Amino acid sequence: MERIYLDYAATTPCDSRVVEAMRPYFTEKFGNPSSIHSFGQEAKKGLEDARQVLADFLGAKPEEIVFTSGGTESNNFTIFGVAGAMAHKGNHIITSQIEHHAISEPCKALEKHGCSVSYVKVDKNGIVDPGDVKKAITDKTILITIMHANNEIGTIQPIAEIGKIAKEKAIPFHTDAVQTVGHIPTNVNELNVDLLSLSAHKFYGPKGVGALYIRKGTRINRLLHGGEQEKGRRASTSNVPGIVGLAKAIELCKERMKEESLMESSLRDTLIKNLLSKIEKSYLNGHSIQRLPNNVNMSFEYIEGESMLLNLDMLGIAASSGSACTSSSLEPSHVLLAIGRSHETAHGSLRFALGRWTKKSDIDYVSEVLPGIVDKLRQMSPLYEKK
Ligand SMILES: *Cc1c(COP(=O)(O)O)cnc(C)c1O
Repeated sequence: MERIYLDYAATTPCDSRVVEAMRPYFTEKFGNPSSIHSFGQEAKKGLEDARQVLADFLGAKPEEIVFTSGGTESNNFTIFGVAGAMAHKGNHIITSQIEHHAISEPCKALEKHGCSVSYVKVDKNGIVDPGDVKKAITDKTILITIMHANNEIGTIQPIAEIGKIAKEKAIPFHTDAVQTVGHIPTNVNELNVDLLSLSAHKFYGPKGVGALYIRKGTRINRLLHGGEQEKGRRASTSNVPGIVGLAKAIELCKERMKEESLMESSLRDTLIKNLLSKIEKSYLNGHSIQRLPNNVNMSFEYIEGESMLLNLDMLGIAASSGSACTSSSLEPSHVLLAIGRSHETAHGSLRFALGRWTKKSDIDYVSEVLPGIVDKLRQMSPLYEKK
């Protein structure tokens, strides 16, 4: 059976060109970049070239990039690091109700240690109002962190506007850009951000490697203590093959981003249109335009997302019922609840995330089989009364 992968927001396959670029750094160029000898210097060149590639892509300087183990670490680094470095000034953090757990859980952890956190609401389309962020600011606010695009419903936030407000008040501003880097423009100066998290496995690079952009002058404590790698900001021997792979993945995205996002958004809109017209009592979640080019998230009344996923999987189609992190728990998505969906409706939701290798025929196939699956499940649902 041919399988169709529509879960690119959970992770992406590594592009084979990325794997090729990484290969020498496992074997002949295996040195520790902190070593003085030629083995070390070879690895160090790979590391620093990669840093330059990523910096250029973000509109940053190489010394403003710290490589990490991924999006989760970059977010934890930001929250604990800035809260620690700014404790003399205050203990208040502003974030949104729809952040990834890699932001909300560190925030909750800090709340147990005397920090206060404001969770700004979103509107029914899943968009943060910059005015609400402004209103939440107090003289104790030390960090604002709002995600660039949501991993479940794909909404893109007005980051540049929020950044302007943060800048006026001289409050450090972070964005979790794990879903956007490599997919839509993420220039740190255009976005007005001081810190930005990214993760390679969300843009056709390897898992377990990412980066945090830290604008020069931003005060932040280290998360990992140990050696002096990354100019003392992140101890541990650098993951050189992973970092080289991250940079190669960035180069490929740079070349293809425009074309790819046009291709994806056209397929996205076709899928949304097909499903809305073929399936009654179905709704699109998130903003119809201000959304990631590859994200489709829909709710179907009277049925469970999990049952739809299993039925799709039997036909070789891989989708998700929310984020990879929450789909194994019984709690409905906090994101869908935040946009006003009921518990029942939130449970009946699916996310299709398109990517580099998605074809028109994949979208046609899903459009053809999902209405039948929904119909079958509704017939079995006690909640559904046939008219
Ligand atoms: C995937 C994801 C993360 C976590 O990144 P990892 O590299 O898997 O730790 C954080 N934030 C968002 C928005 C994500 O989509």
